Amino acid sequence: MFPTYESPTIKKLNAGMMNKFGSRTEYTPVKFIDNVAVADLMDKYGSPLFVISERTIRQNYQKALKAFKMRYPKVQFAWSYKTNYLDAVCKVFHQEGSWAEVVSGFEYQKAIRNGVPGNLIIFNGPDKSKEDLILAVKNRSLIHIDHFDELYMLIEILEEIKDTKARVAIRVNMDTGIYPQWDRFGFNYDNGQAWNAIVKIIAQEKLQLEGLHCHIGTYMLTANAYAVAARKMCELALKYSNTTGENIKYIDMGGGFCSANTLKGSYLQGADIIPTFDDYAEAITNTILQFGFRPDELPLLILETGRALIDEAGYLLGTVLATKRLADGRRATVLDTGVNIMFTSFWYNHRVSPAQDFSQHAEETVLYGPLCMNIDCLRESVLLPLLKKGDRIVVHEVGAYNMTQWMQFITLRPNIVMIDTKGEVHLIRKQETVNTIVDCEIVPEHLKKFVI
Ligand SMILES: *Cc1c(COP(=O)(O)O)cnc(C)c1O
Repeated sequence: MFPTYESPTIKKLNAGMMNKFGSRTEYTPVKFIDNVAVADLMDKYGSPLFVISERTIRQNYQKALKAFKMRYPKVQFAWSYKTNYLDAVCKVFHQEGSWAEVVSGFEYQKAIRNGVPGNLIIFNGPDKSKEDLILAVKNRSLIHIDHFDELYMLIEILEEIKDTKARVAIRVNMDTGIYPQWDRFGFNYDNGQAWNAIVKIIAQEKLQLEGLHCHIGTYMLTANAYAVAARKMCELALKYSNTTGENIKYIDMGGGFCSANTLKGSYLQGADIIPTFDDYAEAITNTILQFGFRPDELPLLILETGRALIDEAGYLLGTVLATKRLADGRRATVLDTGVNIMFTSFWYNHRVSPAQDFSQHAEETVLYGPLCMNIDCLRESVLLPLLKKGDRIVVHEVGAYNMTQWMQFITLRPNIVMIDTKGEVHLIRKQETVNTIVDCEIVPEHLKKFVI
Protein backbone atom coordinates (compact mmCIF):
# COMPACT_ATOMS: atom_id res chain seq x y z
CA MET A 1 0.00 0.00 0.00
CA PHE A 2 1.06 3.58 -0.63
CA PRO A 3 1.71 5.63 2.46
CA THR A 4 -1.27 7.89 3.15
CA TYR A 5 -0.66 11.60 3.37
CA GLU A 6 -2.65 14.00 5.48
CA SER A 7 -1.83 17.68 5.52
CA PRO A 8 -1.06 18.94 9.03
CA THR A 9 -3.39 21.11 11.11
CA ILE A 10 -2.79 22.79 14.42
CA LYS A 11 -5.20 21.68 17.15
CA LYS A 12 -5.27 21.80 20.91
CA LEU A 13 -4.14 18.40 22.12
CA ASN A 14 -6.30 16.81 24.76
CA ALA A 15 -5.20 13.19 24.63
CA GLY A 16 -5.56 11.50 27.97
CA MET A 17 -8.05 14.02 29.24
CA MET A 18 -11.13 12.65 30.93
CA ASN A 19 -14.39 12.90 29.09
CA LYS A 20 -17.71 13.38 30.85
CA PHE A 21 -17.82 9.72 31.89
CA GLY A 22 -14.42 9.85 33.60
CA SER A 23 -11.63 7.94 31.96
CA ARG A 24 -13.97 5.77 29.94
CA THR A 25 -13.35 6.00 26.24
CA GLU A 26 -15.09 4.46 23.28
CA TYR A 27 -11.98 3.04 21.75
CA THR A 28 -10.44 -0.33 22.29
CA PRO A 29 -9.60 -2.31 19.19
CA VAL A 30 -12.06 -5.11 18.44
CA LYS A 31 -10.18 -7.69 16.40
CA PHE A 32 -12.37 -10.71 17.06
CA ILE A 33 -16.06 -11.51 17.26
CA ASP A 34 -16.73 -14.80 19.04
CA ASN A 35 -13.06 -15.70 18.46
CA VAL A 36 -13.33 -15.21 14.70
CA ALA A 37 -10.93 -12.60 13.28
CA VAL A 38 -12.67 -9.52 11.94
CA ALA A 39 -9.97 -9.19 9.25
CA ASP A 40 -10.61 -12.74 8.01
CA LEU A 41 -14.36 -12.15 7.86
CA MET A 42 -13.89 -9.00 5.80
CA ASP A 43 -11.29 -10.55 3.50
CA LYS A 44 -13.69 -13.37 2.71
CA TYR A 45 -17.12 -11.67 2.71
CA GLY A 46 -16.31 -8.08 1.82
CA SER A 47 -17.11 -4.72 3.32
CA PRO A 48 -19.48 -3.66 4.66
CA LEU A 49 -20.55 -6.87 6.35
CA PHE A 50 -23.17 -7.67 8.96
CA VAL A 51 -22.15 -10.32 11.48
CA ILE A 52 -24.59 -12.08 13.81
CA SER A 53 -23.49 -14.04 16.85
CA GLU A 54 -25.71 -17.07 17.38
CA ARG A 55 -24.19 -17.56 20.81
CA THR A 56 -25.18 -14.07 21.93
CA ILE A 57 -28.75 -14.56 20.71
CA ARG A 58 -29.10 -17.80 22.65
CA GLN A 59 -27.48 -16.39 25.78
CA ASN A 60 -29.69 -13.30 25.79
CA TYR A 61 -32.79 -15.33 25.10
CA GLN A 62 -32.08 -17.73 27.94
CA LYS A 63 -31.26 -14.91 30.32
CA ALA A 64 -34.47 -13.07 29.52
CA LEU A 65 -36.64 -16.18 29.71
CA LYS A 66 -35.10 -17.16 33.03
CA ALA A 67 -35.82 -13.72 34.52
CA PHE A 68 -39.52 -14.32 33.87
CA LYS A 69 -39.68 -18.07 34.55
CA MET A 70 -38.08 -17.70 37.98
CA ARG A 71 -40.94 -15.40 38.94
CA TYR A 72 -43.95 -16.73 37.10
CA PRO A 73 -45.04 -20.27 36.25
CA LYS A 74 -46.37 -19.87 32.70
CA VAL A 75 -44.25 -17.83 30.31
CA GLN A 76 -44.01 -17.87 26.52
CA PHE A 77 -41.84 -15.72 24.25
CA ALA A 78 -42.88 -14.88 20.68
CA TRP A 79 -40.20 -13.62 18.31
CA SER A 80 -40.99 -10.19 16.88
CA TYR A 81 -40.33 -10.77 13.18
CA LYS A 82 -40.06 -7.13 12.20
CA THR A 83 -37.09 -6.68 14.54
CA ASN A 84 -35.06 -9.10 12.44
CA TYR A 85 -36.77 -11.52 10.09
CA LEU A 86 -33.77 -13.20 8.51
CA ASP A 87 -34.76 -16.87 8.38
CA ALA A 88 -31.59 -18.00 10.15
CA VAL A 89 -32.22 -15.58 13.00
CA CYS A 90 -35.89 -16.54 13.35
CA LYS A 91 -34.94 -20.22 13.40
CA VAL A 92 -32.52 -19.69 16.29
CA PHE A 93 -35.39 -18.20 18.28
CA HIS A 94 -37.78 -20.98 17.23
CA GLN A 95 -35.20 -23.61 18.25
CA GLU A 96 -35.09 -21.91 21.63
CA GLY A 97 -38.86 -22.33 21.88
CA SER A 98 -40.16 -18.97 20.68
CA TRP A 99 -43.46 -18.60 18.88
CA ALA A 100 -43.68 -16.08 16.01
CA GLU A 101 -45.12 -12.57 16.33
CA VAL A 102 -45.87 -11.02 12.95
CA VAL A 103 -47.38 -7.71 11.83
CA SER A 104 -48.10 -8.22 8.12
CA GLY A 105 -49.16 -10.82 5.59
CA PHE A 106 -45.55 -10.95 4.38
CA GLU A 107 -44.21 -11.70 7.86
CA TYR A 108 -47.00 -14.22 8.37
CA GLN A 109 -45.91 -16.06 5.21
CA LYS A 110 -42.33 -16.00 6.40
CA ALA A 111 -43.26 -17.60 9.73
CA ILE A 112 -45.24 -20.34 7.96
CA ARG A 113 -42.32 -20.96 5.56
CA ASN A 114 -40.02 -21.22 8.57
CA GLY A 115 -42.17 -24.08 9.82
CA VAL A 116 -43.90 -22.38 12.74
CA PRO A 117 -47.24 -24.15 13.38
CA GLY A 118 -50.14 -21.81 12.57
CA ASN A 119 -51.53 -21.97 16.10
CA LEU A 120 -48.25 -20.61 17.46
CA ILE A 121 -48.27 -17.47 15.33
CA ILE A 122 -49.47 -14.20 16.84
CA PHE A 123 -50.83 -11.90 14.15
CA ASN A 124 -50.56 -8.23 15.19
CA GLY A 125 -50.72 -4.95 13.34
CA PRO A 126 -53.26 -2.60 11.75
CA ASP A 127 -52.92 -3.99 8.22
CA LYS A 128 -54.34 -7.50 7.82
CA SER A 129 -56.03 -8.09 4.50
CA LYS A 130 -59.12 -10.23 4.06
CA GLU A 131 -56.96 -12.99 2.58
CA ASP A 132 -54.51 -12.75 5.51
CA LEU A 133 -57.37 -13.07 7.99
CA ILE A 134 -58.95 -16.06 6.21
CA LEU A 135 -55.60 -17.85 6.27
CA ALA A 136 -55.02 -16.98 9.92
CA VAL A 137 -58.50 -18.21 10.90
CA LYS A 138 -57.98 -21.50 9.06
CA ASN A 139 -54.54 -21.97 10.62
CA ARG A 140 -55.93 -21.32 14.13
CA SER A 141 -53.50 -18.43 14.59
CA LEU A 142 -53.96 -15.86 17.33
CA ILE A 143 -55.43 -12.77 15.69
CA HIS A 144 -54.83 -9.63 17.71
CA ILE A 145 -57.52 -7.20 16.58
CA ASP A 146 -56.30 -3.62 16.18
CA HIS A 147 -59.43 -1.60 15.34
CA PHE A 148 -63.21 -1.88 14.91
CA ASP A 149 -62.97 -2.05 11.11
CA GLU A 150 -60.85 -5.15 11.47
CA LEU A 151 -63.27 -6.62 14.00
CA TYR A 152 -66.21 -6.12 11.61
CA MET A 153 -64.25 -7.51 8.67
CA LEU A 154 -63.44 -10.60 10.71
CA ILE A 155 -67.08 -11.06 11.66
CA GLU A 156 -68.03 -10.87 7.96
CA ILE A 157 -65.35 -13.35 7.01
CA LEU A 158 -66.53 -15.82 9.61
CA GLU A 159 -70.00 -15.82 8.08
CA GLU A 160 -68.40 -17.22 4.94
CA ILE A 161 -66.18 -19.80 6.64
CA LYS A 162 -68.49 -22.50 7.97
CA ASP A 163 -68.01 -24.16 11.38
CA THR A 164 -64.83 -22.33 12.22
CA LYS A 165 -64.21 -20.08 15.15
CA ALA A 166 -61.47 -17.47 15.20
CA ARG A 167 -59.06 -17.32 18.12
CA VAL A 168 -58.66 -13.64 18.92
CA ALA A 169 -57.27 -11.11 21.36
CA ILE A 170 -57.54 -7.35 21.32
CA ARG A 171 -54.69 -4.94 21.41
CA VAL A 172 -55.17 -2.50 24.24
CA ASN A 173 -53.54 0.92 24.57
CA MET A 174 -53.54 2.97 27.74
CA ASP A 175 -52.00 5.70 29.79
CA THR A 176 -48.97 4.21 31.54
CA GLY A 177 -47.43 7.50 32.61
CA ILE A 178 -45.17 7.55 29.53
CA TYR A 179 -45.79 10.30 26.99
CA PRO A 180 -46.53 10.66 24.17
CA GLN A 181 -49.00 7.82 24.64
CA TRP A 182 -49.03 5.09 22.04
CA ASP A 183 -52.74 5.30 21.36
CA ARG A 184 -52.78 4.74 17.61
CA PHE A 185 -52.73 0.95 17.89
CA GLY A 186 -55.54 -1.05 19.43
CA PHE A 187 -58.41 -0.01 21.66
CA ASN A 188 -58.07 2.48 24.49
CA TYR A 189 -58.46 1.17 28.02
CA ASP A 190 -59.00 4.41 29.87
CA ASN A 191 -61.98 5.70 27.84
CA GLY A 192 -63.78 2.34 27.77
CA GLN A 193 -63.11 1.54 24.13
CA ALA A 194 -61.30 -1.69 24.96
CA TRP A 195 -64.23 -2.96 27.02
CA ASN A 196 -66.57 -1.94 24.20
CA ALA A 197 -64.54 -4.11 21.81
CA ILE A 198 -64.62 -6.99 24.29
CA VAL A 199 -68.43 -6.94 24.68
CA LYS A 200 -68.78 -6.93 20.89
CA ILE A 201 -66.53 -9.99 20.74
CA ILE A 202 -68.41 -11.72 23.56
CA ALA A 203 -71.62 -11.25 21.56
CA GLN A 204 -70.16 -13.12 18.59
CA GLU A 205 -70.48 -16.85 18.80
CA LYS A 206 -67.67 -17.42 16.32
CA LEU A 207 -65.12 -15.23 18.06
CA GLN A 208 -63.23 -16.83 20.87
CA LEU A 209 -61.49 -14.23 23.05
CA GLU A 210 -58.35 -15.96 24.29
CA GLY A 211 -56.10 -13.12 25.27
CA LEU A 212 -55.37 -9.48 25.85
CA HIS A 213 -52.43 -7.76 24.23
CA CYS A 214 -50.56 -4.52 24.70
CA HIS A 215 -47.28 -3.11 23.43
CA ILE A 216 -46.93 0.12 25.31
CA GLY A 217 -43.96 1.61 23.51
CA THR A 218 -40.42 0.93 22.53
CA TYR A 219 -37.12 1.42 24.33
CA MET A 220 -39.02 1.82 27.62
CA LEU A 221 -36.67 3.27 30.21
CA THR A 222 -39.03 2.75 33.15
CA ALA A 223 -40.02 -0.77 34.13
CA ASN A 224 -42.87 0.68 36.19
CA ALA A 225 -44.82 1.55 33.03
CA TYR A 226 -45.22 -2.22 32.53
CA ALA A 227 -46.62 -2.58 36.05
CA VAL A 228 -49.25 0.05 35.25
CA ALA A 229 -50.07 -1.69 31.96
CA ALA A 230 -50.22 -5.16 33.53
CA ARG A 231 -52.65 -3.95 36.17
CA LYS A 232 -55.00 -2.54 33.52
CA MET A 233 -54.79 -5.80 31.56
CA CYS A 234 -55.65 -7.76 34.73
CA GLU A 235 -58.63 -5.45 35.36
CA LEU A 236 -59.95 -6.25 31.89
CA ALA A 237 -59.35 -9.97 32.38
CA LEU A 238 -61.26 -9.92 35.67
CA LYS A 239 -64.16 -7.98 34.20
CA TYR A 240 -64.27 -10.50 31.36
CA SER A 241 -64.45 -13.50 33.67
CA ASN A 242 -67.05 -11.81 35.88
CA THR A 243 -69.17 -11.17 32.79
CA THR A 244 -68.81 -14.49 31.00
CA GLY A 245 -67.75 -16.99 33.67
CA GLU A 246 -64.79 -17.85 31.47
CA ASN A 247 -61.13 -16.96 31.91
CA ILE A 248 -58.78 -15.05 29.68
CA LYS A 249 -56.11 -17.59 28.71
CA TYR A 250 -53.20 -15.23 28.18
CA ILE A 251 -51.93 -11.74 28.76
CA ASP A 252 -49.42 -10.59 26.15
CA MET A 253 -47.30 -7.69 27.39
CA GLY A 254 -45.63 -7.04 24.01
CA GLY A 255 -42.05 -5.85 23.66
CA GLY A 256 -40.24 -2.56 24.08
CA PHE A 257 -37.51 -3.57 26.53
CA CYS A 258 -34.33 -1.55 25.98
CA SER A 259 -31.18 -2.81 24.38
CA ALA A 260 -27.91 -1.35 25.64
CA ASN A 261 -27.71 1.20 22.85
CA THR A 262 -27.48 4.90 23.70
CA LEU A 263 -30.26 7.17 22.49
CA LYS A 264 -29.20 10.38 20.79
CA GLY A 265 -29.35 13.26 23.23
CA SER A 266 -28.94 10.96 26.23
CA TYR A 267 -26.33 12.27 28.64
CA LEU A 268 -25.57 8.84 30.06
CA GLN A 269 -24.55 5.70 28.21
CA GLY A 270 -27.46 3.35 27.52
CA ALA A 271 -25.76 0.46 29.28
CA ASP A 272 -25.67 2.46 32.52
CA ILE A 273 -29.33 3.44 32.70
CA ILE A 274 -31.52 0.80 31.06
CA PRO A 275 -33.62 -1.53 33.23
CA THR A 276 -32.53 -5.18 33.27
CA PHE A 277 -34.70 -8.15 32.29
CA ASP A 278 -35.08 -8.75 36.03
CA ASP A 279 -36.47 -5.23 36.51
CA TYR A 280 -39.05 -5.69 33.76
CA ALA A 281 -39.94 -9.20 34.94
CA GLU A 282 -40.33 -8.03 38.51
CA ALA A 283 -42.67 -5.19 37.51
CA ILE A 284 -44.88 -7.38 35.31
CA THR A 285 -45.02 -10.60 37.32
CA ASN A 286 -45.52 -8.93 40.71
CA THR A 287 -48.51 -7.09 39.33
CA ILE A 288 -50.15 -10.19 37.87
CA LEU A 289 -49.33 -12.44 40.83
CA GLN A 290 -50.67 -9.95 43.36
CA PHE A 291 -53.80 -9.15 41.41
CA GLY A 292 -55.79 -12.00 42.90
CA PHE A 293 -56.12 -14.72 40.26
CA ARG A 294 -56.61 -18.22 41.64
CA PRO A 295 -53.28 -20.04 41.28
CA ASP A 296 -54.70 -22.54 38.79
CA GLU A 297 -56.27 -19.73 36.78
CA LEU A 298 -53.20 -17.58 36.28
CA PRO A 299 -53.05 -16.47 32.65
CA LEU A 300 -50.19 -17.49 30.41
CA LEU A 301 -47.78 -14.54 30.19
CA ILE A 302 -46.59 -13.87 26.64
CA LEU A 303 -43.72 -11.50 25.80
CA GLU A 304 -42.78 -10.21 22.37
CA THR A 305 -39.47 -8.62 23.24
CA GLY A 306 -37.46 -7.85 20.11
CA ARG A 307 -34.54 -5.43 20.24
CA ALA A 308 -33.41 -6.45 23.73
CA LEU A 309 -32.75 -9.99 22.48
CA ILE A 310 -31.04 -9.32 19.17
CA ASP A 311 -29.38 -5.89 19.17
CA GLU A 312 -26.24 -6.99 20.95
CA ALA A 313 -25.86 -10.05 18.68
CA GLY A 314 -25.43 -7.89 15.57
CA TYR A 315 -22.25 -6.16 14.37
CA LEU A 316 -21.55 -4.14 11.27
CA LEU A 317 -18.02 -4.24 9.91
CA GLY A 318 -16.88 -1.42 7.68
CA THR A 319 -13.90 0.25 6.05
CA VAL A 320 -12.57 3.80 6.07
CA LEU A 321 -12.91 5.27 2.58
CA ALA A 322 -11.30 8.63 3.28
CA THR A 323 -10.46 11.18 5.93
CA LYS A 324 -10.98 14.90 5.58
CA ARG A 325 -10.70 18.22 7.35
CA LEU A 326 -13.97 20.09 7.25
CA ALA A 327 -13.96 23.82 6.62
CA ASP A 328 -14.32 24.50 10.34
CA GLY A 329 -11.30 22.35 11.17
CA ARG A 330 -13.16 19.29 12.41
CA ARG A 331 -11.87 15.89 11.52
CA ALA A 332 -14.19 13.79 9.34
CA THR A 333 -13.97 10.12 8.48
CA VAL A 334 -15.92 8.64 5.57
CA LEU A 335 -16.97 5.01 6.06
CA ASP A 336 -18.64 2.54 3.73
CA THR A 337 -21.37 1.94 6.33
CA GLY A 338 -24.09 4.50 5.73
CA VAL A 339 -27.55 5.23 7.06
CA ASN A 340 -28.91 3.12 4.20
CA ILE A 341 -27.87 0.00 6.12
CA MET A 342 -27.84 1.59 9.59
CA PHE A 343 -31.30 2.99 9.93
CA THR A 344 -31.00 2.99 13.72
CA SER A 345 -28.21 5.59 13.58
CA PHE A 346 -31.03 8.13 13.23
CA TRP A 347 -31.85 7.64 16.92
CA TYR A 348 -28.90 5.82 18.46
CA ASN A 349 -25.31 6.89 18.98
CA HIS A 350 -23.85 3.55 17.96
CA ARG A 351 -20.58 2.55 19.53
CA VAL A 352 -17.80 2.29 16.93
CA SER A 353 -14.49 0.54 17.53
CA PRO A 354 -11.41 0.37 15.35
CA ALA A 355 -10.64 -3.20 14.28
CA GLN A 356 -6.84 -2.80 14.46
CA ASP A 357 -4.22 -1.26 16.73
CA PHE A 358 -3.95 2.52 16.68
CA SER A 359 -2.01 5.45 17.98
CA GLN A 360 -2.62 6.95 21.40
CA HIS A 361 -3.82 10.22 19.95
CA ALA A 362 -7.56 10.61 19.71
CA GLU A 363 -9.71 13.36 18.30
CA GLU A 364 -13.36 14.32 18.10
CA THR A 365 -14.44 13.01 14.71
CA VAL A 366 -17.52 13.19 12.51
CA LEU A 367 -18.38 9.82 10.98
CA TYR A 368 -20.00 9.95 7.56
CA GLY A 369 -21.36 7.16 5.41
CA PRO A 370 -20.69 6.71 1.67
CA LEU A 371 -23.94 8.12 0.32
CA CYS A 372 -24.01 11.25 -1.75
CA MET A 373 -26.52 12.82 0.58
CA ASN A 374 -26.07 15.23 3.45
CA ILE A 375 -28.02 13.28 6.07
CA ASP A 376 -25.66 10.31 5.78
CA CYS A 377 -23.96 10.89 9.11
CA LEU A 378 -23.46 8.10 11.65
CA ARG A 379 -21.99 10.10 14.51
CA GLU A 380 -21.89 13.88 14.76
CA SER A 381 -19.03 13.76 17.16
CA VAL A 382 -17.22 10.78 18.58
CA LEU A 383 -13.83 10.59 20.23
CA LEU A 384 -11.84 8.15 18.12
CA PRO A 385 -8.22 7.41 17.38
CA LEU A 386 -7.03 8.68 14.03
CA LEU A 387 -8.31 6.27 11.44
CA LYS A 388 -6.87 6.28 7.93
CA LYS A 389 -7.99 5.04 4.54
CA GLY A 390 -8.31 1.27 4.51
CA ASP A 391 -8.64 0.93 8.30
CA ARG A 392 -11.51 -1.19 9.48
CA ILE A 393 -14.15 -0.50 12.07
CA VAL A 394 -16.74 -2.48 14.03
CA VAL A 395 -20.13 -0.94 14.81
CA HIS A 396 -21.80 -2.49 17.83
CA GLU A 397 -25.37 -3.43 18.63
CA VAL A 398 -26.97 -3.23 15.23
CA GLY A 399 -28.89 -6.54 15.34
CA ALA A 400 -32.32 -4.96 15.78
CA TYR A 401 -34.21 -3.31 12.92
CA ASN A 402 -31.24 -2.55 10.67
CA MET A 403 -31.62 -5.73 8.63
CA THR A 404 -35.35 -5.07 8.14
CA GLN A 405 -35.51 -1.28 7.87
CA TRP A 406 -32.47 -0.93 5.64
CA MET A 407 -33.07 0.68 2.29
CA GLN A 408 -31.81 0.05 -1.18
CA PHE A 409 -30.65 3.57 -1.89
CA ILE A 410 -27.69 4.43 -4.14
CA THR A 411 -25.90 1.20 -3.33
CA LEU A 412 -26.66 -2.48 -2.75
CA ARG A 413 -27.11 -4.31 0.52
CA PRO A 414 -24.15 -6.34 1.79
CA ASN A 415 -23.57 -9.93 2.90
CA ILE A 416 -24.74 -11.13 6.29
CA VAL A 417 -22.95 -13.94 8.10
CA MET A 418 -23.76 -15.80 11.28
CA ILE A 419 -21.11 -17.21 13.59
CA ASP A 420 -22.54 -20.38 15.11
CA THR A 421 -21.92 -21.55 18.67
CA LYS A 422 -18.93 -23.62 17.55
CA GLY A 423 -17.28 -20.68 15.79
CA GLU A 424 -18.21 -21.75 12.23
CA VAL A 425 -19.14 -18.92 9.90
CA HIS A 426 -22.23 -19.23 7.67
CA LEU A 427 -23.38 -16.88 4.94
CA ILE A 428 -27.08 -16.27 5.78
CA ARG A 429 -27.94 -13.56 3.25
CA LYS A 430 -26.09 -12.95 0.02
CA GLN A 431 -25.09 -9.46 -0.98
CA GLU A 432 -27.37 -7.98 -3.58
CA THR A 433 -26.35 -7.59 -7.20
CA VAL A 434 -27.64 -5.29 -9.90
CA ASN A 435 -29.91 -8.16 -10.94
CA THR A 436 -31.57 -8.28 -7.52
CA ILE A 437 -32.90 -4.84 -8.33
CA VAL A 438 -33.48 -4.83 -12.07
CA ASP A 439 -35.24 -8.20 -12.05
CA CYS A 440 -38.27 -6.38 -10.61
CA GLU A 441 -38.20 -3.65 -13.24
CA ILE A 442 -40.02 -3.59 -16.58
CA VAL A 443 -39.04 -1.21 -19.41
CA PRO A 444 -41.88 -0.44 -21.84
CA GLU A 445 -41.20 -1.50 -25.42
CA HIS A 446 -40.95 2.08 -26.78
CA LEU A 447 -38.23 2.96 -24.27
CA LYS A 448 -35.96 0.04 -25.01
CA LYS A 449 -33.84 1.72 -27.68
CA PHE A 450 -32.18 5.10 -27.81
CA VAL A 451 -29.48 6.96 -29.69
CA ILE A 452 -27.68 9.79 -27.97
C1 LIG B 1 -42.23 -3.95 17.27
C2 LIG B 1 -43.09 -4.76 18.15
C3 LIG B 1 -42.51 -5.59 19.12
C4 LIG B 1 -41.03 -5.61 19.43
O1 LIG B 1 -40.64 -4.38 19.95
P1 LIG B 1 -39.15 -4.18 20.56
O2 LIG B 1 -39.10 -2.74 20.92
O3 LIG B 1 -38.18 -4.53 19.49
O4 LIG B 1 -39.02 -5.09 21.75
C5 LIG B 1 -43.37 -6.39 19.86
N1 LIG B 1 -44.71 -6.37 19.66
C6 LIG B 1 -45.29 -5.57 18.74
C7 LIG B 1 -46.76 -5.59 18.56
C8 LIG B 1 -44.50 -4.73 17.97
O5 LIG B 1 -45.09 -3.92 17.06
